[in-house]
Amino acid sequence: MSVRVDEVLSVAPPSFSEAEAGVIAENLFGVVGSARAARSERDQTFLIDGQRPAVMKVSNTAEDAARLDMEFLAVRRVALVDPSLPVVQPWLVPGALSGVEDPASYRAVVPGVAGSHHVRMYDRLPGRASIHGAELSDDAVRDWGTMAARLGRALRGFSHPSSTRVMLWDAQHALLLRDLLGAVADPAVRALVGRTLDRYEAVVSPVWPTLRAQVIHGDLCADNVLVGDAGEVTGIIDFGDMGFSALIADAVSAVESHVAGRAREDILRTVRIALDGYERATPLELIERTIFGELLAARACASVVVPEFRASMDENRYGRTADLRRDAVKLLEHLDDLGFDVVARRLGGREPGAGSPVRQLLARRQDVLGPALTNPSYDEPLHLVRGEGVWLFDADDRRYLDAYNNVPVVGHGHPRVSEAIARQSRRLNTNMRYLHDTVLEVADRLIATSDPSLDVVLFVNSGSEANDLAWRIAAAATGRTGGLCTAHAYHGISEATAALSPEAWAGRVQPGHVRTWAPPDGYRDSDHGAEPFARAIGQLVEAGHGPAAAILDGVLTSDGIIDLAPGLARELVHLTHEAGGLWIADEVQGGHGRTGAMWSYQRLGIAPDIVTLGKPMGNGHPVAAVITRSDIAERFAQTTDFFSTFGGNPVAMAAALAVLDVIDDERILDGARATGDHLRAGLRALQRGAPVIGDVRGMGLATGVEIVQAGTPTADRPSADRIINELRRRGVLIGTTGAGGNVLKIRPPLVFQPRHADLLVATLAEVLGDGRS
Ligand code: PMP
Repeated sequence: MSVRVDEVLSVAPPSFSEAEAGVIAENLFGVVGSARAARSERDQTFLIDGQRPAVMKVSNTAEDAARLDMEFLAVRRVALVDPSLPVVQPWLVPGALSGVEDPASYRAVVPGVAGSHHVRMYDRLPGRASIHGAELSDDAVRDWGTMAARLGRALRGFSHPSSTRVMLWDAQHALLLRDLLGAVADPAVRALVGRTLDRYEAVVSPVWPTLRAQVIHGDLCADNVLVGDAGEVTGIIDFGDMGFSALIADAVSAVESHVAGRAREDILRTVRIALDGYERATPLELIERTIFGELLAARACASVVVPEFRASMDENRYGRTADLRRDAVKLLEHLDDLGFDVVARRLGGREPGAGSPVRQLLARRQDVLGPALTNPSYDEPLHLVRGEGVWLFDADDRRYLDAYNNVPVVGHGHPRVSEAIARQSRRLNTNMRYLHDTVLEVADRLIATSDPSLDVVLFVNSGSEANDLAWRIAAAATGRTGGLCTAHAYHGISEATAALSPEAWAGRVQPGHVRTWAPPDGYRDSDHGAEPFARAIGQLVEAGHGPAAAILDGVLTSDGIIDLAPGLARELVHLTHEAGGLWIADEVQGGHGRTGAMWSYQRLGIAPDIVTLGKPMGNGHPVAAVITRSDIAERFAQTTDFFSTFGGNPVAMAAALAVLDVIDDERILDGARATGDHLRAGLRALQRGAPVIGDVRGMGLATGVEIVQAGTPTADRPSADRIINELRRRGVLIGTTGAGGNVLKIRPPLVFQPRHADLLVATLAEVLGDGRS
């Protein structure tokens, strides 16, 4: 049987007696004490019980001095980079001629019957070796996992010419085990190993070159890790399997020991605990989790095959590995029974979400989420599993152009935002009862982009909360109770904001303290200027409610996306102030660059008293804010002590800051203006041959398209519904809005480009052209 593996595995280990070892220790290192042989695979290890407890390692005759030097340089590197890692250090040989920096000064030579042996002496570290996995507490497993990751980090960037070597335990060479398979006596076990290696070849081999790789310890198993009474790792010993391999392989060797002897139901749980520990120091990549099961299985294959191979050569010498082999077979059987796809999913190695059929999800959703929840969009609901920029992907990996979602303002899954969230979440997430600097930076940045009069920021978690808080502030600051909003406005789900949301009144009567006003409908020629607004104020006062505030979404999304004239906007603010109320600019829809200005009120040329932010603020992470003047905040402070558990938390602030940065860096505002104009030009060109398009309007990347009965201004909701469903079938997502439900709502992520606008217009042209609309 010939394999191309390293010679140290096939040459017999040294065979000094304990008495001879004692003499060697004294002669070479001046240590006086009795020597006891300890377990070792290919070398000889002796515990020297002298004045200073030590461990002496006598190498195999095939061991190469350059590799021992690499081990020395590696442990030195670890001690330098992460000094608190308990890595064993070799002794300087007394009287060594070269200096302390020379690796050769840390090894001596002794002649033996088969040739000469290198001898190294180490301090004995505290703790127990060879602990059986089932004895380890969860804390011990976690700590071991963390140590594995820290060791990998400490060895990052370490290189040495001797770091490539073919070792059977190294997962990258797992397929070499096939050459030794004949030594496995039990045919069922042989078949199991064969199957496992086939799976490895199919799944791991193709992705191996993509794995993070570096010089690693190579064997963080129970023989090489010492554990203290509290389960903490007290020593990492024996760097003899060091080599250049996949970084994750150290976690794999550790985990093989952790699961040894455990009940089946405890195996994957233990793996997850170990990986939690690992990720305290080094987050895993998805691919590492995905193939972890196969790598663990490959390692278990080696634990079955290598001992059997050796036993087939010399039964006595390798008899002690029976336990290892038995545990490995059990592990292989368990992984094989579960199936590696299941293992990958249970170890977090699969993208979440994929899998269940749409109909099943729909039924379950109705069952457990109840009837009040809004229906999913479209006749054929979408099961989306992934997003990237302006694209969304369903469970079948079909791609959709997202021209609907305004929340991912800088695009779905923007790496800057996602990574900022993940990083901060790993580091710390607390609340505003503690000092934190990012929240101040976000506040500064928001204030810097705001009207100069606005100088105080309060953080909350959703648009509804922001508007709710704004309402409370306005009520406190004015001492009044009345509210004004547009005829089909939407401002949130709380009691106070639902009262200001006629869109969601759903046939219920108008609350006594609220009056609505109809925004101008330029298309149907019903522009009455500020008159409807002034009338609403009058009605409110008449009803005994002086206005505390008027609230306006600057792009009037729910009213059908209306471009208010700045002159009118200024007049409305003036009338509100005259009546003793405050102006709340709801920027939940129109803010963060949607209109091509940072805040939609800036386009309207007004200075609000209170501004509310939400949806796009964290690109999907829940974060919202209220910006106001300090004099108003002062009056609010006299009525309450404001604290929101999640409001302003460090993770939310990391998201908010990243979004602001990306908006600047990617010149999002310029893009929103240019692409929005391009889109509307395309839609207007289409309108010329499509009498069902009554009006095309909007600003920046908020666009409304009125669908009407051809040639009339009569709203045609059924056609609008058909159009959005047809577009969805053709891979373009938009919605509808407005009191008549007939306005196509086109409100994409702001990274939408002219080519995306062209695709949208072309697809809409197809839909309109096929006669069904
Ligand atoms: N204000 C406006 C203008 C909105 O469009 C919305 C949400 N559609 C809200 C407030 C409420 O935001 P949230 O759903 O985050 O509570």
